[in-house]
Amino acid sequence: MLFDSHAHLNFQEFENDWRQIIDDCQKQNVWVANVGSQFETSKKAVEISNNFEVGVYAAVGLHPIHVLGSKFHPEKFDREQYRQLIEASKKIVAIGETGIDFFHDDKNFEKQKEIFIEHINLAQAFNLPVVIHARNSRDGKKNAYQEIIKVIRDQRSEIRGVIHCFGGTKDEAMAFIKLGFCVGFTGVITFDQTEQLAETIDQLSLDSILVETDSPYLAPVPFRGKRNQPQYVRYVVEKIAQIKKIDYNKIAEQTAINAKKLFRV
Ligand SMILES: [Zn+2]
Repeated sequence: MLFDSHAHLNFQEFENDWRQIIDDCQKQNVWVANVGSQFETSKKAVEISNNFEVGVYAAVGLHPIHVLGSKFHPEKFDREQYRQLIEASKKIVAIGETGIDFFHDDKNFEKQKEIFIEHINLAQAFNLPVVIHARNSRDGKKNAYQEIIKVIRDQRSEIRGVIHCFGGTKDEAMAFIKLGFCVGFTGVITFDQTEQLAETIDQLSLDSILVETDSPYLAPVPFRGKRNQPQYVRYVVEKIAQIKKIDYNKIAEQTAINAKKLFRV
């Protein structure tokens, strides 16, 4: 079994064939968590998951690049709307994606942070994990990982979650694990010039690693540049197996166990 812990079959790119893709995933025993980035895509992730008894789940939230003040289709985070969505569905397993993105928008940090904390509060209210997105500024001077770690440390009660599509340093990965988080890896680890990430993966305990595709983005080699899909998560597992010199099946099994444990499914 494989568990793609972060996909967007709820996005437009899959409008015409998400059902076909998920049917195929179900046959191959590939489980999927579809993640919302705005209210509409969050709702869509829930609607998709409602079609399947098992193996398809949803996360709901507002991505940091879409908070008010941003250039990319900004919208207001309506806490009440999300509450109602969560209360009405049994398939919502996480809150997000949320977090800090200095890459697409390095002038809106305070708003991003405020909405990130709103997501944490929502996650705590429903006892759900958070799916966190982090991206540093282009010049690397503004570090999203460090800001996120600070926010998490400032919380009074415990938060669970995953730092998805990890692209930080080994020390940052360790800091997240120490805070009880999982670290998610995408097809990026199959790209050239990712030795630093490989080194990080080699050091991390397998218990804390999740695999993901971030479909339709970040298709792994040999599909790089094409539309990604959850079945390709096996290339991420293969790469981790190669880095850690552990059997493929063991990586597939343990990362699925980790995702099931985090999402409580
Ligand atoms: Zn994503």
